[in-house]
Amino acid sequence: MTNSVSHSVMFHHFHNNNHPRSQGSLSETDFRDLLLWLRKKYTLVGASEYSKKILSCTLSASDICLSFDDALKCQYDIAIPILEEFGLDAFFFVYSSVFSDSPDFLEIYRLFRTINFADIDSFYSDFFEIVEQLDTGEYKKQNFAYQSMNYLSAFPFYSENDKWFRYIRDQYLGPIRYKEIMSKMMLIHGFNVEDAKKNIWMSEDDLKTIDEMHHVVGLHSYSHPTQMSKLKLEDQDREYSKNYRHLSDLLGHPIQSMSHPCGDYNNDTLEILKRIGISIGFRSSMSVKEIKSSLEIPREDHANVFKEMNS
Ligand SMILES: [Zn+2]
Repeated sequence: MTNSVSHSVMFHHFHNNNHPRSQGSLSETDFRDLLLWLRKKYTLVGASEYSKKILSCTLSASDICLSFDDALKCQYDIAIPILEEFGLDAFFFVYSSVFSDSPDFLEIYRLFRTINFADIDSFYSDFFEIVEQLDTGEYKKQNFAYQSMNYLSAFPFYSENDKWFRYIRDQYLGPIRYKEIMSKMMLIHGFNVEDAKKNIWMSEDDLKTIDEMHHVVGLHSYSHPTQMSKLKLEDQDREYSKNYRHLSDLLGHPIQSMSHPCGDYNNDTLEILKRIGISIGFRSSMSVKEIKSSLEIPREDHANVFKEMNS
């Protein structure tokens, strides 16, 4: 199945000796194979050229570009040298809270689960035990409620443990108590959050380096809300203005492109982006198979491309 609309392929995690393998991550070889395969099917265009083409309405349906979200260090260490090999520049979409004292913990938890447990179920069994010990009566009551409601049945790929974990996290504990429990678990396992941060995200110097290498650094909001469209106009404005200021100050030039965190946005978002001078934006799926505007370019997840390549 070849996508017949110009789009971008969206990448997240990579693994090697220094970055652990995690759900959906690609090795150096996987990435090289994938680029060779894409080059046969499509016209692989650099990010700068892609930007020029979309703004001058000269994109062909077969033109695709590459984009990397979330400023992950594994992209810097593993993907960038291969992009150099191919002589390709790519988009890197960065959310700025990563460079502050309070980054979002999602990536940190992911790394903790990956390196401190044999598999996800070993993590779940420790987690369930800790929550149960906090309040056995309440734990049983919550489990009873959960059993009677067919929770997350719309997601058939979730295991029973996946669903029960999400119920506990989102319906029972809520973000504050969840964070307390995760902090306690990381302490028990001697997991050092400060060290982890250094290996999860690029540094500001790394960003400057990729900018100097002529890759294109773009916005991805300040704190990476999962549902941007649910935020009030002024909160959305703050998300993108802070992100814009951080990156343009750091790199010393205007920013022109962005990708929508979790692909979520509304008309307010598009108006804000236009006002601050962003002219190129990417979604996070191929669910809309057309380019509705230059701020809504579809993207294919690398996991789907990889699956297709290996089928
Ligand atoms: Zn993201």
